Amino acid sequence: MKKFLLFLIPLSMILSSCGEEKAVDNPFFVEWDTPFGSPPFDQIHEDHFIPAYQEAIRQHQAEIDAIVDNAEAPTFENTIAAYDQAGSMLRRISPVFGGLRGAETNPRLQEIARETTPMLSAHSSAIRMNEGLFERIQAVYNDRNNLDLNKEQMIVVEKMYQDFERGGAALPAEQREELTKISERMSMVSLQLSENHLAENNAFKLIIEDEADLAGLPSHIIAAAAQEATRVDMDGKWVFTTAFPSRVPFLTFAQNRDLRKEMLMGYVNRGDNDNENDNKELFIELMMLRQQMSEILGYDNYAEYFTAIQMAENPQNVYDFLYRVWEPALARAKREKADLQAIINREGSNFKVEAHDWWYYAEQVRKEKYDLDDDEVKPYFTIENVKQGNFMLANKLWGLTFEARPEIPVYHEEVEAYEVFDNDGSHLAILFIDPHPRPGKRSGAWCGTYRSGAWEDGEWVSPIVTIVMNFTRPSGDKPAMLSWDETTTYFHEFGHAVHNFFAQGNFRRTSRSVPRDFVELPSQILENWAGEPELLKSYALHYETGEPIPDELIERLQKSEHFNQGFINTEYLAAAILDMDWHTSNITEDTDVNAFERASMKRIGLIDEIIPRYRTTNFGHIFGGGYAAGYYVYRWAGVLDADAFYAFKESGDLFNPQMAADFRKYILANNALYEGMDAYVNFRGEEPAIEPFLIRSGLK
Ligand SMILES: [Zn+2]
Repeated sequence: MKKFLLFLIPLSMILSSCGEEKAVDNPFFVEWDTPFGSPPFDQIHEDHFIPAYQEAIRQHQAEIDAIVDNAEAPTFENTIAAYDQAGSMLRRISPVFGGLRGAETNPRLQEIARETTPMLSAHSSAIRMNEGLFERIQAVYNDRNNLDLNKEQMIVVEKMYQDFERGGAALPAEQREELTKISERMSMVSLQLSENHLAENNAFKLIIEDEADLAGLPSHIIAAAAQEATRVDMDGKWVFTTAFPSRVPFLTFAQNRDLRKEMLMGYVNRGDNDNENDNKELFIELMMLRQQMSEILGYDNYAEYFTAIQMAENPQNVYDFLYRVWEPALARAKREKADLQAIINREGSNFKVEAHDWWYYAEQVRKEKYDLDDDEVKPYFTIENVKQGNFMLANKLWGLTFEARPEIPVYHEEVEAYEVFDNDGSHLAILFIDPHPRPGKRSGAWCGTYRSGAWEDGEWVSPIVTIVMNFTRPSGDKPAMLSWDETTTYFHEFGHAVHNFFAQGNFRRTSRSVPRDFVELPSQILENWAGEPELLKSYALHYETGEPIPDELIERLQKSEHFNQGFINTEYLAAAILDMDWHTSNITEDTDVNAFERASMKRIGLIDEIIPRYRTTNFGHIFGGGYAAGYYVYRWAGVLDADAFYAFKESGDLFNPQMAADFRKYILANNALYEGMDAYVNFRGEEPAIEPFLIRSGLK
């Protein structure tokens, strides 16, 4: 559930140094006359990216030079605002390139990325290290209290100064050069780690030839595996992959214990197979580079550097928080393990529960204690129903409405485009929905933007937002039916989308800029409504009968929310602590990835039956910069969203209009004015309590 924040504003381009030919052929050189100015995917060809990037970098550099060479003294307008607006052509290319690389990549795009990544990295380093630019920004910053700036302007000055300072601009020349080299190498290493990760995801296949080995699996899962076999020219066999909709049902239902082990090992060992996609050595290099970078910038380690601008403020606060949840989670996981063992003993099997048994026997516990299996609820959660549920929720809370816009070009036939209208009927945004897995799509689910909402020449340009998922496909003539987990993921990504719909502000730097440990609040809070009867009765309708989900099933569904929470929280927190350990430790060339991981997990007392949700070599979240030393943010935000949702419940009206309006104002729309805890306290009236989270998760 990653989020990538990308920017794009279509503007007419000045074609100073470019040939006419390029301008005619390459859509990035001309204004887009598509509906709502959305990217003309049908005209964009892979070969357009490199020349477009080259020109965009040249233009951006020229804009920066103009700011630096300005003979007038630095002012807010000629320096801060001008820098904030620069780079318009880059803002239209990068979201398209980044979006396609995530959702519809191919070897050619990956090749282009290998060429453009160092180009872009060198460009941003050059800006970050531009002394003339930094001097002007610093001059405005130093004089900021005498400039009669409003609150938003003051924040943007401070953030911009901080960006440069954290990028090393205030350092002596020699250290700046060193830092540039480190960050260029770092971006290449990150890229290679991610590519290996994708290759490893695709490489593992559990191929079944003997029908007897399918025992226990539901028919639609078998059908999907047969379909996958056909897709990879293995007609007549069954192929399971590491993708969630294939792997998790297999681990949950397959009776063949050896094959479950094969599947789990295939999954957890991604990147650790001593083959050409092995990530161990690269990961150590990345850790060392991050450590060097942090030290040059005056921090003890990367976690110090990262948390300095988060709500958490420092690594110790993160550890303290994680341990507060870790202890009750691990205690509960141990009780769950005993439940699993009891079933194994009862069925007369003579073995100790192992990691590859957890899903399978947990499913038995669920049937017994929680009396609910996914196949019972799935018929109510067709992908269309769930989409409508999201639209209804946005309507009940904020009065939004949605209309399909098939005339908007998309990059794949499965992608749907919607126009989003605000509560007064005015145009608010465009939303793309890309629901199913494809070989060129990376795993997981995420939200991004093809264009951010921003002021452009005195006019508001609305956002173009995309949510991308890897949900179960339709099977045969039945519609795609989502598991409960997939259903809540849909609400999650949609929550990020709503955040993007509403974001306001006069400056790009601050209009949607929130701390990482805040960004999952808008997404996670929507998951709470997904399971409330008041909403379920409207959207969870049986795909054949049209009957709403019965009360009795809702009750069991709600009760099941506590199911396996020990395991879920433990495997998550183990990964979050592993991430913090990597980024607070002194790593050298001699550090052994697997030994480090084992020591880290031993220290916190992780039990053998649970493997961290991600192992180091396939921990995609921390390969790039975004969630490194920051995987904790999901639970941090979990505390925020549980407390915020509790406020709605406590008010007696789940869709309390005043609270919804305040949530929009302080949490979603005005991040340029209200930051982190300040935003939260403005909405809630006080800081969040941890109890609603522990209670919701059955940990208290
Ligand atoms: Zn998210």
